[in-house]
Amino acid sequence: MHHTQSMLDFDRAHIWHPYTSIGNPLPVYPVKRAEGCTLFLEDGRELIDGMASWWTAVFGYNHPVLNRAVTGQLEQMAHVMFGGLTHRPAVELCRRLLGICPPGLDAVFLCDSGSVSVEVAIKMAIQYWSSVGRPEKQRLAAIRSGYHGDTLGAMSVCDPVTGMHHLFSGILPAQLFADMPRSPFEGPLDDRDVQNLEQLLAAHHREIAALVLEPVVQGAGGMRFYSPAYLAMARQLCDQYEVLLICDEIATGFGRTGKLFACEHAGISPDILCVGKALTGGYMTLAATLASEKVARGISSGDPGLFMHGPTFMGNPLACATAVAAIDLLHTFDWQAAVTGMEARMKQGLGPCADMPGVREVRCLGGIGVVETKEPVDTARAQTLFVERGVWVRPFGRLIYIMPPYIITPEALSRLTTAICEVVALLPDLQS
Ligand SMILES: *Cc1c(COP(=O)(O)O)cnc(C)c1O
Repeated sequence: MHHTQSMLDFDRAHIWHPYTSIGNPLPVYPVKRAEGCTLFLEDGRELIDGMASWWTAVFGYNHPVLNRAVTGQLEQMAHVMFGGLTHRPAVELCRRLLGICPPGLDAVFLCDSGSVSVEVAIKMAIQYWSSVGRPEKQRLAAIRSGYHGDTLGAMSVCDPVTGMHHLFSGILPAQLFADMPRSPFEGPLDDRDVQNLEQLLAAHHREIAALVLEPVVQGAGGMRFYSPAYLAMARQLCDQYEVLLICDEIATGFGRTGKLFACEHAGISPDILCVGKALTGGYMTLAATLASEKVARGISSGDPGLFMHGPTFMGNPLACATAVAAIDLLHTFDWQAAVTGMEARMKQGLGPCADMPGVREVRCLGGIGVVETKEPVDTARAQTLFVERGVWVRPFGRLIYIMPPYIITPEALSRLTTAICEVVALLPDLQS
């Protein structure tokens, strides 16, 4: 206990956590180990994990198959540079990615994180147009309420308000934003959505390289679901106005929405696809940017003909080997039944929240369950209440949400949804 306290004191004084302040941080809970869907805290408490470590740990923690992939690769080599060298883990991974991703994608760039894969996608789009003689196409269109990462280029296409663009206005490229889609997931296409996106593209297509969006599910920017018909419409408008479509499936990829990729809800393929998060089953950081043959060949045909990006840890063999094992693992179990089952249980378990005061909406899709409140929730206090109930749920703003590992049992999922109902019932006291 003494050691834990000094560790926490050091952490508090010297270490940044995501979106926190040094000096006045939110409390953090020390984890000792994790297994299956359970986090074991240093003080002996056990928490059922509702977050899958931000969409990543879809098979749960400490999985024997993924562990073996890491240790097996470790005995061969942890890393070698990717410049001038290649290796089986990278080739096997890219072969699998091209085999399972939406049709039409043909070339893979391995990246070290999701944000980097978005940067790479943006650079690909701009280099493509420059190569084919349209160098004026350098701006991006994006959708309000979206989230694409925290590096500068990725940030420039995040929602301009929640992405705090005003803090970086001198350096952030000013992109073009369509309204967030109004068409609900199960509803028809709202005409205003079509008009809004069409007006934007009609007015600016000569300078737009690509439209960047998260297909069907907007994640960290608001946990909103929209109609696949909107996505199909966006694909069609991009073709009509000669704008590339970049689909950011970093959160939605590998089954989370009930389809292997969310693009499948609309039966479309993007020109450029970003994947990450669940790619290694939550083991380590790895992402990829996939391009269509048109984009890949276009870039190669221009001047300089090279794609200008190359991270030091590109194609890290440990991460690639783990990703190969994670993709194979996905195919060995009925992930679709697991995700569909989660959706039904979350709808049932979170349903009672819809009638509670302070709740704006309850929505569930695939392995994602969201309670949106009317007023922002005090994250630290809500988190304490969740930990007291033996679950790990981390709300932000007006969103209390879960996206558990696919392997969660019905009993564990029910403990999560029950805890959310209990905490939401205390809402008026929890709002800052
Ligand atoms: C998490 C996320 C990113 C950023 O990925 P990092 O690995 O955190 O850099 C980008 N886009 C979407 C949709 C995400 O959910």
